[in-house]
Amino acid sequence: MSQFTFPILHLLADGQFHSGEALAQHFKVTRATIWNAVQHAQNLGVEVFSVRGRGYKLPQAIELLDEKLVLAAIGEQRAWFKLEVLDEITSTNTYLMQQKNAAHATCVVAHVQTHGKGRRGRTWVSQLGASLTFSLLWRFQCGAAALSGLSLAVGVALIRALNSLGVNDAQLKWPNDVLVTENNTPKKLAGILIELQGDLEGPSAAVIGVGFNLNLPDKVLSSIDQPAIDLTTVSTSPINQSALLGVLLKHLADVLSSFEQHGFVGLRDEWLSYHAYENKPVRMLLPNGTEVVGLVKSVADDGILLVETALGLQRFSAGEISLRNLSL
Ligand code: ATP
Repeated sequence: MSQFTFPILHLLADGQFHSGEALAQHFKVTRATIWNAVQHAQNLGVEVFSVRGRGYKLPQAIELLDEKLVLAAIGEQRAWFKLEVLDEITSTNTYLMQQKNAAHATCVVAHVQTHGKGRRGRTWVSQLGASLTFSLLWRFQCGAAALSGLSLAVGVALIRALNSLGVNDAQLKWPNDVLVTENNTPKKLAGILIELQGDLEGPSAAVIGVGFNLNLPDKVLSSIDQPAIDLTTVSTSPINQSALLGVLLKHLADVLSSFEQHGFVGLRDEWLSYHAYENKPVRMLLPNGTEVVGLVKSVADDGILLVETALGLQRFSAGEISLRNLSL
Protein backbone atom coordinates (compact mmCIF):
# COMPACT_ATOMS: atom_id res chain seq x y z
CA MET A 1 0.00 0.00 0.00
CA SER A 2 1.35 3.46 -0.88
CA GLN A 3 -0.35 6.82 -0.50
CA PHE A 4 1.32 7.90 -3.75
CA THR A 5 -0.01 5.11 -5.98
CA PHE A 6 -3.22 6.82 -7.07
CA PRO A 7 -1.82 10.37 -7.26
CA ILE A 8 0.83 8.91 -9.60
CA LEU A 9 -1.79 7.00 -11.61
CA HIS A 10 -3.75 10.24 -12.04
CA LEU A 11 -0.64 11.73 -13.70
CA LEU A 12 0.06 8.59 -15.75
CA ALA A 13 -3.58 8.55 -16.94
CA ASP A 14 -2.51 10.74 -19.89
CA GLY A 15 -0.74 7.71 -21.38
CA GLN A 16 2.58 9.58 -21.68
CA PHE A 17 5.98 8.80 -20.17
CA HIS A 18 6.72 10.43 -16.80
CA SER A 19 10.26 10.06 -15.51
CA GLY A 20 10.86 8.73 -12.01
CA GLU A 21 12.82 11.89 -11.30
CA ALA A 22 10.03 14.24 -12.41
CA LEU A 23 7.48 12.25 -10.37
CA ALA A 24 9.79 12.29 -7.33
CA GLN A 25 10.17 16.07 -7.64
CA HIS A 26 6.44 16.56 -8.13
CA PHE A 27 5.56 14.68 -4.95
CA LYS A 28 8.72 15.76 -3.05
CA VAL A 29 9.70 12.13 -2.32
CA THR A 30 12.55 9.84 -3.36
CA ARG A 31 12.61 7.86 -6.60
CA ALA A 32 12.50 4.70 -4.46
CA THR A 33 9.17 5.87 -3.03
CA ILE A 34 7.85 6.36 -6.56
CA TRP A 35 9.11 2.90 -7.53
CA ASN A 36 7.36 1.35 -4.51
CA ALA A 37 4.13 3.14 -5.36
CA VAL A 38 4.31 1.85 -8.95
CA GLN A 39 4.93 -1.67 -7.61
CA HIS A 40 1.73 -1.38 -5.61
CA ALA A 41 -0.16 -0.34 -8.75
CA GLN A 42 1.17 -3.46 -10.47
CA ASN A 43 0.07 -5.58 -7.52
CA LEU A 44 -3.42 -4.18 -8.11
CA GLY A 45 -3.31 -5.51 -11.67
CA VAL A 46 -2.50 -2.15 -13.29
CA GLU A 47 -0.03 -2.60 -16.13
CA VAL A 48 2.68 0.10 -15.89
CA PHE A 49 5.59 0.09 -18.35
CA SER A 50 8.92 1.04 -16.84
CA VAL A 51 11.55 2.01 -19.47
CA ARG A 52 15.08 2.89 -18.46
CA GLY A 53 15.88 6.52 -19.33
CA ARG A 54 12.22 7.39 -20.08
CA GLY A 55 10.26 6.55 -16.95
CA TYR A 56 6.82 5.11 -16.32
CA LYS A 57 3.86 4.88 -18.69
CA LEU A 58 0.46 3.18 -18.89
CA PRO A 59 -0.19 1.09 -22.04
CA GLN A 60 -2.68 3.76 -23.12
CA ALA A 61 -4.39 6.87 -21.77
CA ILE A 62 -7.21 6.09 -19.35
CA GLU A 63 -10.12 8.07 -17.96
CA LEU A 64 -10.50 8.23 -14.21
CA LEU A 65 -13.71 9.23 -12.48
CA ASP A 66 -14.56 12.89 -12.23
CA GLU A 67 -17.12 13.63 -9.51
CA LYS A 68 -18.28 16.89 -11.11
CA LEU A 69 -19.04 15.14 -14.40
CA VAL A 70 -20.96 12.39 -12.58
CA LEU A 71 -23.14 14.92 -10.75
CA ALA A 72 -23.73 16.95 -13.92
CA ALA A 73 -24.85 13.82 -15.77
CA ILE A 74 -27.32 12.87 -13.01
CA GLY A 75 -29.12 16.15 -13.66
CA GLU A 76 -31.99 17.31 -11.47
CA GLN A 77 -31.86 14.37 -9.09
CA ARG A 78 -28.19 14.98 -8.19
CA ALA A 79 -29.17 16.26 -4.73
CA TRP A 80 -30.63 12.83 -3.91
CA PHE A 81 -27.23 11.17 -3.99
CA LYS A 82 -24.23 11.09 -1.71
CA LEU A 83 -21.30 10.15 -3.93
CA GLU A 84 -18.11 8.61 -2.57
CA VAL A 85 -15.24 8.01 -5.03
CA LEU A 86 -12.68 5.54 -3.68
CA ASP A 87 -9.34 4.69 -5.24
CA GLU A 88 -9.03 1.10 -4.05
CA ILE A 89 -11.41 -1.17 -2.16
CA THR A 90 -11.98 -4.92 -1.87
CA SER A 91 -15.57 -4.67 -3.10
CA THR A 92 -17.90 -1.66 -3.15
CA ASN A 93 -20.77 -3.97 -2.09
CA THR A 94 -18.85 -5.35 0.89
CA TYR A 95 -17.83 -1.82 1.89
CA LEU A 96 -21.40 -0.48 1.78
CA MET A 97 -22.84 -3.57 3.51
CA GLN A 98 -20.49 -2.77 6.42
CA GLN A 99 -21.67 0.89 6.66
CA LYS A 100 -24.84 0.13 8.61
CA ASN A 101 -25.68 3.84 9.02
CA ALA A 102 -24.95 4.93 5.45
CA ALA A 103 -27.43 7.48 4.15
CA HIS A 104 -30.15 6.53 1.68
CA ALA A 105 -28.84 6.85 -1.93
CA THR A 106 -25.17 6.63 -0.98
CA CYS A 107 -23.20 5.64 -4.08
CA VAL A 108 -19.70 4.26 -3.66
CA VAL A 109 -17.64 3.97 -6.82
CA ALA A 110 -14.10 2.58 -6.93
CA HIS A 111 -11.26 3.00 -9.39
CA VAL A 112 -10.01 -0.48 -8.44
CA GLN A 113 -11.85 -3.38 -6.81
CA THR A 114 -9.43 -6.02 -5.57
CA HIS A 115 -12.11 -8.62 -4.76
CA GLY A 116 -15.09 -7.80 -6.98
CA LYS A 117 -17.98 -10.17 -6.28
CA GLY A 118 -20.56 -12.01 -8.34
CA ARG A 119 -23.34 -14.11 -6.86
CA ARG A 120 -22.62 -17.03 -4.51
CA GLY A 121 -18.90 -16.38 -4.07
CA ARG A 122 -18.15 -15.86 -7.75
CA THR A 123 -15.68 -13.21 -8.90
CA TRP A 124 -16.32 -10.04 -10.90
CA VAL A 125 -13.34 -9.09 -13.07
CA SER A 126 -12.50 -5.40 -13.45
CA GLN A 127 -9.55 -3.21 -14.28
CA LEU A 128 -8.51 0.39 -13.59
CA GLY A 129 -9.91 2.74 -16.22
CA ALA A 130 -11.46 -0.15 -18.16
CA SER A 131 -14.42 -0.96 -15.90
CA LEU A 132 -17.05 0.91 -13.95
CA THR A 133 -17.77 -0.66 -10.56
CA PHE A 134 -20.13 0.94 -8.07
CA SER A 135 -22.71 0.17 -5.40
CA LEU A 136 -25.79 2.12 -4.42
CA LEU A 137 -27.49 1.88 -1.04
CA TRP A 138 -31.26 2.26 -1.27
CA ARG A 139 -33.52 2.20 1.79
CA PHE A 140 -37.07 0.81 1.55
CA GLN A 141 -40.01 1.12 3.95
CA CYS A 142 -41.10 -2.37 2.93
CA GLY A 143 -39.38 -5.52 4.18
CA ALA A 144 -36.73 -7.52 2.33
CA ALA A 145 -39.44 -10.09 1.49
CA ALA A 146 -41.03 -7.57 -0.91
CA LEU A 147 -37.79 -6.97 -2.83
CA SER A 148 -37.82 -10.18 -4.89
CA GLY A 149 -38.02 -8.41 -8.27
CA LEU A 150 -35.46 -5.76 -7.41
CA SER A 151 -32.57 -7.06 -9.51
CA LEU A 152 -34.91 -7.20 -12.52
CA ALA A 153 -36.01 -3.61 -11.87
CA VAL A 154 -32.35 -2.53 -11.71
CA GLY A 155 -31.80 -4.22 -15.07
CA VAL A 156 -34.52 -1.99 -16.56
CA ALA A 157 -32.66 1.10 -15.28
CA LEU A 158 -29.42 -0.12 -16.87
CA ILE A 159 -31.08 -0.68 -20.25
CA ARG A 160 -32.80 2.73 -20.14
CA ALA A 161 -29.41 4.34 -19.43
CA LEU A 162 -27.79 2.45 -22.33
CA ASN A 163 -30.63 3.43 -24.68
CA SER A 164 -30.23 7.08 -23.72
CA LEU A 165 -26.54 6.79 -24.65
CA GLY A 166 -27.36 5.33 -28.06
CA VAL A 167 -26.78 1.63 -27.23
CA ASN A 168 -30.05 0.06 -28.31
CA ASP A 169 -29.34 -3.65 -28.63
CA ALA A 170 -28.66 -4.58 -25.01
CA GLN A 171 -30.92 -7.21 -23.43
CA LEU A 172 -31.55 -8.67 -19.99
CA LYS A 173 -30.86 -12.16 -18.76
CA TRP A 174 -32.87 -13.21 -15.74
CA PRO A 175 -32.19 -12.31 -13.01
CA ASN A 176 -29.19 -10.03 -13.12
CA ASP A 177 -27.15 -9.62 -16.30
CA VAL A 178 -27.05 -7.19 -19.22
CA LEU A 179 -26.15 -8.93 -22.48
CA VAL A 180 -25.32 -7.91 -26.02
CA THR A 181 -25.35 -10.53 -28.77
CA GLU A 182 -22.30 -10.59 -31.04
CA ASN A 183 -21.85 -13.23 -33.75
CA ASN A 184 -24.96 -15.06 -32.47
CA THR A 185 -23.45 -15.35 -29.00
CA PRO A 186 -25.01 -13.50 -26.06
CA LYS A 187 -22.15 -11.82 -24.16
CA LYS A 188 -22.21 -10.18 -20.75
CA LEU A 189 -21.72 -6.40 -20.76
CA ALA A 190 -22.71 -5.70 -17.15
CA GLY A 191 -23.73 -7.56 -14.03
CA ILE A 192 -25.85 -6.73 -11.00
CA LEU A 193 -25.32 -8.03 -7.47
CA ILE A 194 -27.92 -7.19 -4.84
CA GLU A 195 -27.36 -7.77 -1.14
CA LEU A 196 -30.05 -7.01 1.41
CA GLN A 197 -29.99 -5.60 4.93
CA GLY A 198 -32.83 -5.43 7.44
CA ASP A 199 -35.92 -7.42 8.33
CA LEU A 200 -38.15 -9.50 6.12
CA GLU A 201 -41.03 -7.35 7.42
CA GLY A 202 -39.29 -3.96 7.06
CA PRO A 203 -37.79 -1.50 6.90
CA SER A 204 -34.99 -2.81 4.72
CA ALA A 205 -32.08 -1.63 2.59
CA ALA A 206 -30.53 -2.96 -0.58
CA VAL A 207 -26.94 -2.61 -1.65
CA ILE A 208 -27.13 -2.62 -5.43
CA GLY A 209 -23.79 -3.45 -7.00
CA VAL A 210 -23.18 -2.85 -10.70
CA GLY A 211 -20.14 -3.83 -12.76
CA PHE A 212 -19.88 -2.48 -16.33
CA ASN A 213 -17.21 -3.44 -18.84
CA LEU A 214 -15.97 -0.25 -20.52
CA ASN A 215 -12.94 -1.17 -22.61
CA LEU A 216 -11.33 -4.29 -21.21
CA PRO A 217 -8.21 -5.50 -23.01
CA ASP A 218 -8.87 -8.61 -25.14
CA LYS A 219 -6.72 -10.77 -22.89
CA VAL A 220 -8.85 -9.81 -19.87
CA LEU A 221 -12.13 -10.38 -21.73
CA SER A 222 -10.98 -13.79 -22.90
CA SER A 223 -9.82 -14.72 -19.37
CA ILE A 224 -13.46 -14.56 -18.19
CA ASP A 225 -15.02 -18.01 -18.11
CA GLN A 226 -18.17 -17.00 -20.02
CA PRO A 227 -18.64 -14.77 -23.08
CA ALA A 228 -18.12 -11.10 -22.17
CA ILE A 229 -18.14 -7.86 -24.12
CA ASP A 230 -17.45 -4.20 -23.39
CA LEU A 231 -19.07 -0.85 -24.09
CA THR A 232 -16.39 0.29 -26.52
CA THR A 233 -17.26 -2.69 -28.73
CA VAL A 234 -21.02 -2.12 -28.66
CA SER A 235 -21.19 1.66 -28.80
CA THR A 236 -20.70 3.67 -31.97
CA SER A 237 -19.52 6.74 -30.05
CA PRO A 238 -17.16 7.03 -27.07
CA ILE A 239 -18.88 7.00 -23.67
CA ASN A 240 -17.18 8.73 -20.77
CA GLN A 241 -17.33 6.60 -17.60
CA SER A 242 -18.29 9.54 -15.34
CA ALA A 243 -21.14 10.45 -17.69
CA LEU A 244 -22.18 6.79 -17.79
CA LEU A 245 -22.29 6.60 -13.99
CA GLY A 246 -24.35 9.80 -13.81
CA VAL A 247 -26.85 8.57 -16.39
CA LEU A 248 -27.10 5.18 -14.65
CA LEU A 249 -27.81 6.86 -11.29
CA LYS A 250 -30.46 9.10 -12.85
CA HIS A 251 -32.28 6.08 -14.30
CA LEU A 252 -31.80 4.08 -11.10
CA ALA A 253 -33.46 6.91 -9.14
CA ASP A 254 -36.48 6.81 -11.50
CA VAL A 255 -36.79 3.04 -11.55
CA LEU A 256 -36.27 2.57 -7.80
CA SER A 257 -38.92 5.21 -7.04
CA SER A 258 -41.34 3.38 -9.32
CA PHE A 259 -40.39 0.04 -7.72
CA GLU A 260 -41.04 1.48 -4.25
CA GLN A 261 -44.53 2.58 -5.26
CA HIS A 262 -45.72 -0.26 -7.47
CA GLY A 263 -43.22 -3.12 -7.08
CA PHE A 264 -41.80 -5.01 -10.08
CA VAL A 265 -45.23 -5.35 -11.68
CA GLY A 266 -45.10 -1.74 -12.91
CA LEU A 267 -41.86 -2.48 -14.79
CA ARG A 268 -42.65 -6.03 -15.92
CA ASP A 269 -43.82 -5.27 -19.47
CA GLU A 270 -40.75 -3.14 -20.10
CA TRP A 271 -38.50 -5.87 -18.65
CA LEU A 272 -40.10 -8.43 -20.97
CA SER A 273 -39.41 -6.18 -23.96
CA TYR A 274 -35.67 -6.48 -23.16
CA HIS A 275 -35.80 -10.21 -22.28
CA ALA A 276 -32.97 -12.12 -24.00
CA TYR A 277 -34.39 -15.61 -23.40
CA GLU A 278 -38.14 -15.32 -24.07
CA ASN A 279 -39.21 -18.65 -25.63
CA LYS A 280 -35.61 -19.85 -25.76
CA PRO A 281 -34.40 -23.26 -24.59
CA VAL A 282 -32.25 -23.03 -21.46
CA ARG A 283 -30.58 -25.07 -18.76
CA MET A 284 -31.40 -24.14 -15.16
CA LEU A 285 -28.53 -24.95 -12.80
CA LEU A 286 -29.97 -25.84 -9.39
CA PRO A 287 -28.23 -25.46 -6.01
CA ASN A 288 -27.96 -29.26 -5.58
CA GLY A 289 -25.86 -29.48 -8.76
CA THR A 290 -28.64 -30.87 -10.95
CA GLU A 291 -29.95 -29.25 -14.13
CA VAL A 292 -33.42 -28.71 -15.50
CA VAL A 293 -33.87 -28.13 -19.23
CA GLY A 294 -36.83 -26.12 -20.43
CA LEU A 295 -38.27 -23.34 -22.55
CA VAL A 296 -38.36 -19.91 -20.91
CA LYS A 297 -41.90 -18.55 -21.02
CA SER A 298 -41.96 -15.29 -19.07
CA VAL A 299 -41.43 -13.65 -15.70
CA ALA A 300 -44.26 -13.29 -13.19
CA ASP A 301 -45.35 -10.06 -11.45
CA ASP A 302 -42.96 -10.73 -8.58
CA GLY A 303 -39.94 -11.44 -10.81
CA ILE A 304 -40.18 -15.26 -10.64
CA LEU A 305 -38.99 -16.96 -13.87
CA LEU A 306 -41.55 -19.21 -15.58
CA VAL A 307 -40.07 -22.16 -17.48
CA GLU A 308 -41.93 -24.87 -19.41
CA THR A 309 -40.24 -28.15 -18.44
CA ALA A 310 -41.05 -31.85 -18.75
CA LEU A 311 -42.99 -31.45 -15.48
CA GLY A 312 -45.08 -28.55 -16.81
CA LEU A 313 -44.76 -24.81 -16.10
CA GLN A 314 -42.26 -24.40 -13.26
CA ARG A 315 -41.51 -21.27 -11.21
CA PHE A 316 -37.92 -20.39 -10.32
CA SER A 317 -36.92 -17.71 -7.83
CA ALA A 318 -33.64 -15.86 -8.26
CA GLY A 319 -31.91 -16.93 -5.03
CA GLU A 320 -29.92 -19.98 -6.04
CA ILE A 321 -30.64 -20.59 -9.70
CA SER A 322 -28.39 -19.88 -12.68
CA LEU A 323 -29.77 -19.82 -16.20
CA ARG A 324 -27.65 -20.86 -19.17
CA ASN A 325 -28.20 -20.86 -22.91
CA LEU A 326 -28.82 -24.51 -23.85
CA SER A 327 -25.83 -24.41 -26.20
CA LEU A 328 -23.33 -23.10 -23.58
P1 ATP B 1 -26.11 -16.26 -12.82
O1 ATP B 1 -26.89 -16.69 -14.00
O2 ATP B 1 -26.32 -17.11 -11.63
O3 ATP B 1 -26.20 -14.81 -12.52
P2 ATP B 1 -23.39 -15.79 -13.60
O4 ATP B 1 -22.34 -16.78 -13.98
O5 ATP B 1 -23.75 -14.74 -14.56
O6 ATP B 1 -24.64 -16.62 -13.22
P3 ATP B 1 -22.83 -13.78 -11.61
O7 ATP B 1 -22.60 -14.02 -10.18
O8 ATP B 1 -23.95 -12.95 -12.04
O9 ATP B 1 -22.90 -15.20 -12.26
O10 ATP B 1 -21.52 -13.12 -12.24
C1 ATP B 1 -20.24 -13.65 -11.97
C2 ATP B 1 -19.74 -14.40 -13.20
O11 ATP B 1 -19.70 -13.51 -14.31
C3 ATP B 1 -18.32 -14.92 -13.05
O12 ATP B 1 -18.31 -16.18 -12.48
C4 ATP B 1 -17.82 -14.91 -14.49
O13 ATP B 1 -18.26 -16.06 -15.17
C5 ATP B 1 -18.54 -13.75 -15.11
N1 ATP B 1 -17.75 -12.50 -15.07
C6 ATP B 1 -16.84 -12.09 -14.16
N2 ATP B 1 -16.37 -10.88 -14.47
C7 ATP B 1 -17.01 -10.49 -15.60
C8 ATP B 1 -16.95 -9.34 -16.42
N3 ATP B 1 -16.16 -8.32 -16.15
N4 ATP B 1 -17.75 -9.31 -17.52
C9 ATP B 1 -18.57 -10.34 -17.82
N5 ATP B 1 -18.67 -11.45 -17.08
C10 ATP B 1 -17.90 -11.53 -15.98
